[in-house]
This record gives sequence, C-alpha cells and structure tokens, in this order.
Amino acid sequence: MTRTATTRRIAAALGAVAAVALLATPLAPASSASAGTDSSAYAMSAKARSSESKAAAARAKAAEAKAAIAKARAKAAADQAAQVAVVQAAQVAAASTDFSSIFADQMPAFDNSGWATCAAPIPWSVDVSNLDPAHAETQVANLQWALDQWAQTTGLAFQYAGPAEFIYDDATFTLTREDGTPAPERHIYLSFVNDEESARLGGGTVGLGGPSQVWQNTHEITAGFAIFRTDHVERASQVEDRSLFLHELGHVMGLAHAQETLNIMYPVVSDHTEVGPGDAAGVRSMLKPCAEAAEPQTF
Ligand SMILES: [Zn+2]
Repeated sequence: MTRTATTRRIAAALGAVAAVALLATPLAPASSASAGTDSSAYAMSAKARSSESKAAAARAKAAEAKAAIAKARAKAAADQAAQVAVVQAAQVAAASTDFSSIFADQMPAFDNSGWATCAAPIPWSVDVSNLDPAHAETQVANLQWALDQWAQTTGLAFQYAGPAEFIYDDATFTLTREDGTPAPERHIYLSFVNDEESARLGGGTVGLGGPSQVWQNTHEITAGFAIFRTDHVERASQVEDRSLFLHELGHVMGLAHAQETLNIMYPVVSDHTEVGPGDAAGVRSMLKPCAEAAEPQTF
C-alpha cells in the first residue's frame, strides 16, 4: 500500500462518519465533534497499523536477507572445507611416496638397507655426559619417545641399555665405546656433542645420524648412531627436540631426506612430531626378515 492511497482512504472514512452523525443527531455539535475525534482516532490507528505492518514486512525481509547470507556463508565454508580436504588428500598422496634409502645416492650397492624384524629388542645407549643430570633425564625420555614412534611404525623393539661413555671421532664420523669394549651385535649409539667437538655440527646443523653397520649380502642394518648438538637441545623446546630425535633416528632406520613437509625426514627441524606417510611406507619397505648373515660392512 502506498502512502497516497492511505491518505485517500482516511479522507473517505472521515466523510462517511460525518454524514452518519448528521443524520442520527442533527442538533448535537458535541457529538459531531466527538465523531470527528473518533474518526481521527481511527485514522491514527489505521496509520499505526499500516506502519506496523510495514515494519513487520521490513523485519521479514531483513530476516530473509540474513538467512540468505547465512546460507551463502555455510556454502562457502563447505566449499572451503572440501577444497582443504582435496589439498590435504593431495599432500598425503604426494608424501606417501616421498621416501628414499640413505644409501641410494652415495652407496647404491646398499640401497634399501633396513633393520631386521628379529624378536630380540635392539639395545640403545646414550652419552649424556655433556648434559646436566636433570636435563639428561629429560632427553633420555625424549629419545625413548622417539624410538617408541619408530617401534610403532616398524614393529621393531628398542631397549634402553643405559647411559654410556662414547668417543666421538669427527674425522671418521664414528662413536666408539670409551672403555674399548666391543659393541653388541645389534645396537644404536647416541651422543650429545658440543659445538667445538665437531666441524660437522654447527651453523644450521643440529644433528646427524645414520646406519654404521650393514650386512652386504642381506642389506641388513645392524648398527646405527646419531649425534645431537648440546647447545641446541638445551635451548630448544621439547617439541623441537623430539622432532630432531625422530628425524635423526629416521636416518638410523635407513631413510634419506624427504621433500614433503608431512614427512619427518623433511630436513628442517620444526614442530612436526609425527612419522609421516612416506616415512612409514619407506621404512617398512626397507625392513628385512630376521636371518643369519655373512660379514657386516662397517662405515
Ligand atoms: Zn637429516
């Protein structure tokens, strides 16, 4: 209803009321006045009703618009979620084939070497003499955590054999027992090395690791080691330490660097503390059956 039409209808109503008043009570001007007042009141209430219904219509329109916006937003969110899911699926697919053997480039004769799935756990020892006792305990727990992740991924078992004193030789890149006793047949040696003890560590390099003994005929890894820069692990967060340990132990498992950030073998220390799809696929593909083997090759 337009504003003009409303005015006309009110004028017609006023005329009708006036005519009725004249016929019924021709000598009562007060009544006439009262009729006028009444009709005026009627006109006011019609106006009020009209503006009320207009407001209701406006409110309905606003609610409709609001609903349309909410619908559009929900659709956009759903579209975005679908897009994210597609990107994530593509990232997982790319990451799941993103692995290679640590020997692939440098020593292709040992390509795809891996640990054997023997029931006996692989003992591991760590030299924490460069750390203060409280911190040493924390880092042993973090190393145990990292080995637990690889155990869950591979089915291999790792057993902490306690702290040990190792001699780190930066030239030959080896860890040997300080007391000269021979290493067990299968083992992992770890050590926290100070900056000045190594030209290999320093700058951006905070850890190094890899297999140290592989059986040539069966490609079975029987020993591995890793070193970590003391000053870095002391100031890094637990998440960064775990990420670093998981990565270096991945090299001990036989993995080379990866390209995809979803994989722990991506070569930059981050807040990433999960074995990625490529890490898992790679290390599983490199596992060897538990069997007797010939002479090991020591690096
Ligand atoms: Zn690395």
